[in-house]
Amino acid sequence: MEKSLEQIQYQALEELEKASDVESIRALTTRYLGRKGELTKLLREISGLLPDERASFGKKANAAKRILDHAVNEALTRVQSAAAPTGEWIDVSLPGRHSGVGVLHPITQITQQICDIFQKMGFDIAEGPEVESDYYNFEALNIPKNHPARDMQDTFYVSENVVLRTHTSPVQIRTMERQSPPVRIIAPGKVFRCDSDLTHTPMFHQVEGLLVDENISFGDLKGMLTAFVHQMFDEGTSLRFRPSFFPFTEPSAEVDILCVICRGKGCRVCSQTGWLEVLGSGMVHPALFEKVGYDSERYTGFAFGMGVERIAMLKYGIDDIRKFFENDARFLMRF
Ligand SMILES: [Zn+2]
Repeated sequence: MEKSLEQIQYQALEELEKASDVESIRALTTRYLGRKGELTKLLREISGLLPDERASFGKKANAAKRILDHAVNEALTRVQSAAAPTGEWIDVSLPGRHSGVGVLHPITQITQQICDIFQKMGFDIAEGPEVESDYYNFEALNIPKNHPARDMQDTFYVSENVVLRTHTSPVQIRTMERQSPPVRIIAPGKVFRCDSDLTHTPMFHQVEGLLVDENISFGDLKGMLTAFVHQMFDEGTSLRFRPSFFPFTEPSAEVDILCVICRGKGCRVCSQTGWLEVLGSGMVHPALFEKVGYDSERYTGFAFGMGVERIAMLKYGIDDIRKFFENDARFLMRF
């Protein structure tokens, strides 16, 4: 009988050690220590023993019961702490780990703002290839081979007749070839030039616009660009149109705004002139209309173009264009 008590104790301890959840521990407790449990049954048989044996068996049986009770409590603590993630208490007031929310790149934001302003004025967005033929990048824009204007742009040549586009103007030609007037488009996109310093990067972004219809005058150009500058910067921004030259427009004008830093007094950013150049513009040269088969006696139009990085630098007062492309999250998250 005593051997059987030891067997029960050994078996119970072994099973409790293997138990991996509360339910199986509860089941083992019932099986060994419950009212009809194996140890309980054994204790009931005590009355059938001789008086001498009774006392020593009783002692051993009670000791076994204490050991098993203790083992049950230990097993419960073990499976409960294993169920908790750290094995420690959980501090529910501790802030969670944030997964950072990204922001749009400042250049993307400014491009979207420019496009929004012109879309409200009825312009559609047009796109074209970044690897462009010599014809669309130069020839069709009134910049024939050997024309001195090609010296104005240091170009990446892929082959003799294929270039990385130096401006988004080829999109104007491609659009006019596809559709007849009226045309009202803006073309945002990447452009490429061999240039790299504080204010130039080999790749940058432009937004160009083209409007062609009957009776379009330089007054329309001035009105629309003035409205654009007032929305992009602020209502009080003064601007001036300065005569300039582009092969694809005649007459041509560069648009300056009153320096946003010094308000015209003269500073380093505006080279002491008080003015900042923001746009190139002009009336579409009739030679372009002839290339795409438009009647240049009937239709007139204007075009303009601007560098997105330049607008962003002026708007936020950034003095080094390269910051946009260094991918420093601390800088990019400010916008
Ligand atoms: Zn200034």
